[in-house]
Amino acid sequence: MTAAELELIATAHKDEASLTPEQSTKIKFLMSELKQVSAPVKNSIFSKLYRRNELRAMISYFNLPSLWFTLNPADNRNPLVAVLSGHTVDQAIALSIFERCKLIVDDPVAPCKYFYCCVNTFISILKGGIFGPLKAYYGIIETQGRGSLHIHMLIWLDEAPPNEIFANALLHDQVHRDNLCCYANSILSATITSAEKIPSICTSFPTTIENQQDIAQFDNIVSAIVQETNMHSASHNAACFKRNNKSCRFNFPRPCQERTTICLDSLDVVPTRNNPWINPYNKYIAYLFRCNHDIILITSGSDTKALIYYLTEYATKCELKTYELVSLMSAAYKDVEENSAVLMESDKTRKLLIRCLNKIGSVQEQPAQLVISDLLGYPTHYTDSTFASLNWLAIVKYIEDGDDDVTLLQQNPLYDRPVTKVLKTKFSVLTSA
Ligand SMILES: [Zn+2]
Repeated sequence: MTAAELELIATAHKDEASLTPEQSTKIKFLMSELKQVSAPVKNSIFSKLYRRNELRAMISYFNLPSLWFTLNPADNRNPLVAVLSGHTVDQAIALSIFERCKLIVDDPVAPCKYFYCCVNTFISILKGGIFGPLKAYYGIIETQGRGSLHIHMLIWLDEAPPNEIFANALLHDQVHRDNLCCYANSILSATITSAEKIPSICTSFPTTIENQQDIAQFDNIVSAIVQETNMHSASHNAACFKRNNKSCRFNFPRPCQERTTICLDSLDVVPTRNNPWINPYNKYIAYLFRCNHDIILITSGSDTKALIYYLTEYATKCELKTYELVSLMSAAYKDVEENSAVLMESDKTRKLLIRCLNKIGSVQEQPAQLVISDLLGYPTHYTDSTFASLNWLAIVKYIEDGDDDVTLLQQNPLYDRPVTKVLKTKFSVLTSA
């Protein structure tokens, strides 16, 4: 393949023209080679493929997750950021919104530390059972337009029934529907009291609840926080009308209703609502983190798998368009073609792959907080599950070749004899069946 061929492919992609079969084969091969080389590199463009594969493995292993949760810590509002940046508590509370914004630009380490502090705190309350007994979780960290960090998380709850049974019960059993509504009411809400506005989201709030009066005060504070942090803007924003949507793609404003129900067509849980612009929230999370968050109960139904696909695609989205990627690879090929005439073919291939990845990396904007989190050694994702990669081709080769050819498998301790024996037995059972 040459730089000129790649440029032709990039142009075809941009114009949405179809590729020749030969072009398709070549570009697929090149992409797969690049993915192999770059996937293990932290924060590289293809490292997200690892995340996607792990999420899919969890869905295969645990069935579909129960909840989708997003936490969007407010680094431009929370005084803790200023404290982490060296201010005293009194100074931190006294800062204006402009000073807070300036602080996170001048010192991206403080908001980064604050974000990971929020995530670790959230995971501890998740494990403590804020949504019920926990089976597993998987969260991916992303940056938003202004460069601040947020986390999307899929949560599997213990004792949640397999989804086919769950869907069937929701469709045919009113008691089951009532129970699910009751559970939804216990973890999320879309109502607010007509609370007076709090002076500032940085205000010091009580930390204990001892009587009925405290509960009323707690509800009022939560409502005030939600009005500051968890309302969809009545004037919408650019993201609402992405991909030529004529109406808000987050379905705001949403109709008010007096009790939580289940839509029998989509099996979506529709919570009690007294304001069309509230994004459903959890009152304890609102009180504790004082920031925007989102909770979606994943029920079943014909579109659940599509939803999971969307969620994992969304959580692992790649910022560059295909034609932009191919065009960058073409430039890398051109460099190597012009400067590596005397190289051996194997060295040239290695150089080509590295040059392609460097070209792609050089045009990707990296938000300061993401770079800092990398330098400080913070993780790019959170999970309590462990994964092992299987070289499936080696296993298939072993099965096809019989017991004698085990060289490939013996190179990796994971593919020891007992494991491959079991696989071989299973494979035999499957093929004979
Ligand atoms: Zn909108």
